Amino acid sequence: MDAEKLLSSVSDTSDETEFYTPMPAGYKPGQCRYVVVFGTVMSGLGKGIFSSSLAKVLQDKGLTVAPIKLEGYLNRDSGTLNPFRHGEVYVLDDGMECDMDLGTYERMLNQDLNRLNFCTSGQIFTRVLEKERRGGYLGRDVQMIPHVTGEVKSRLRELAVATGADVVFVEIGGTVGDVENAYFIEAIRQLAFEEGPQSVCNVALTYIIEPAMLGEQKSKPAQLNLRTLMAAGIHPHIIACRARHPATNKVREKIAMYSNVPMERVFSMHDCDSVYVIAEMLRGAGIDSAVLDILGLADRADVEREDRERTVWNDYIARFRQAALPVTIGIIGKYTSLRDSYASIIQAIEHAGVHYGARVELKWIDSSSLTEKDVAERLKGLHGVIVPGGFGIRGVEGKLACIRFARENRIPYLGLCYGFQIAVIEYARNVCGLAGANTTEIEQDAAYPVIDVLPEQKRIEGLGGNMRLGGQDVLLAPGSLVAKMYGDVERIRLRFRHRYEVDPQFIDTLTDGGLRFSGRSPNHPIMQVLELSPADHPFFVGTQAHPELTSRPLDAEPMFAAFVHATLVQSGVRDPQPTGVLPRGKPATENHQNERAST
Ligand code: GLN
Repeated sequence: MDAEKLLSSVSDTSDETEFYTPMPAGYKPGQCRYVVVFGTVMSGLGKGIFSSSLAKVLQDKGLTVAPIKLEGYLNRDSGTLNPFRHGEVYVLDDGMECDMDLGTYERMLNQDLNRLNFCTSGQIFTRVLEKERRGGYLGRDVQMIPHVTGEVKSRLRELAVATGADVVFVEIGGTVGDVENAYFIEAIRQLAFEEGPQSVCNVALTYIIEPAMLGEQKSKPAQLNLRTLMAAGIHPHIIACRARHPATNKVREKIAMYSNVPMERVFSMHDCDSVYVIAEMLRGAGIDSAVLDILGLADRADVEREDRERTVWNDYIARFRQAALPVTIGIIGKYTSLRDSYASIIQAIEHAGVHYGARVELKWIDSSSLTEKDVAERLKGLHGVIVPGGFGIRGVEGKLACIRFARENRIPYLGLCYGFQIAVIEYARNVCGLAGANTTEIEQDAAYPVIDVLPEQKRIEGLGGNMRLGGQDVLLAPGSLVAKMYGDVERIRLRFRHRYEVDPQFIDTLTDGGLRFSGRSPNHPIMQVLELSPADHPFFVGTQAHPELTSRPLDAEPMFAAFVHATLVQSGVRDPQPTGVLPRGKPATENHQNERAST
């Protein structure tokens, strides 16, 4: 029976058949193409960067793409994960807390994603178990195959229907051979059969080791793990070899030999200086045309469109490489030992740096070892300071010392979320005379609880997925610093992830003391942006939001751009000028919905 007949014989489920393939309404097998990226040998190969770059190259050619990350862990989202172990928790506009790779996709594709683009085992099993309780399996025993794999296929097809994408990009988390992702791989095997020829392109990302004691490349781990992939029923169409140096012909030949993949489809993907050059590297190697051939899409490529997109992108890379004005920015946080915890901040600074031709050096300062006594020494030479988001008590006193130092010594300061709240505490204590001011997150019975839990949060129990999350509109005070940054618009949209806020009963005291709340929520008395008057400080700005999440290479986030501008001035550059077009203001858009945020 061919795939189409097979599917037409199965509407949903019954105990008459072994097949179980729930089809979202409106989906026809074969209508969408899939590129699936598998990781072999080990994690950390940059699978997300690779597949988002490949997706971008197809997007440049005029195809619509929709990425999805399949994550093996049982958490329903990434909200409860420790950034030490998993990197930053990335928040989408609709409030989904997800893997940091989704940030890579948003930046690379310049596209807002939503909860359909992120799928964990926790979500799949929740769906299966809820369906079972509703009697959805009609008396059948519920099995990994076909029921759980059926839900995986359904998620991919739902994304195809919702986006109308020409190509869905599936990134399978983890490494081939893991127990956690084995059923995702099995689902892909079934999908390829059901969708028909030329519908699915399997790309295996592998790793070529280069042991120092040998000084040459070795392909054995790659060969063995590719064999594991094939044993799971997936024959790769394309193999991309991650390596420190370009993969040698000998290595590529061996890989080709062991996997029956022709040499011209075994590519080298060696290290390079910026993630944004990878798209061009893929094009140079011809991976894009290989994918189009495999999927029968070669005649869909719009070469003129691609040339235009390339010119813009290459201009960014050229400006990135030419950026030469040296500035040093300190990031004061508690996760400084793991850069992945601050991935989006690093990216946002890069975009803003390129925008003003700044070569930014980042200095990581662990707030838990910072005190009033050594703060001057530790912050010496910095042209700007960022206190990023965070939770809990550790390192807070260090952050307070650092903010006070930056405020009193006129060093540009940008506070992000917790960095905004701690700036309020510092101002309350040291300027407004509220000794003992604090956040109730760390001191329940603080003398002045200037930061307190949001009223809507008091009713909530448990920790998962229940902060104030996702995109929210922010009303900007006309004439304020922040309004100017965004091109004098009244409203912007930023993303949030917090449980605490400025307690409204202290707003007057803080404002009378000179702290200006220049961005507020349109519907609630929630303070979203603070600033000091330019007469008092060259740049002292904080936001309850996470503007780093909405920065894009070709559209530097205005608050970050303004901050980098201030650091350049601090370093002695007289009138820093943009190297490209000005960052666009981000006007609030009507079509974003965020029902969850106010629950
Ligand atoms: N811990 C603070 C809150 O929950 C800040 C959160 C953050 O920085 N993301 O409000």
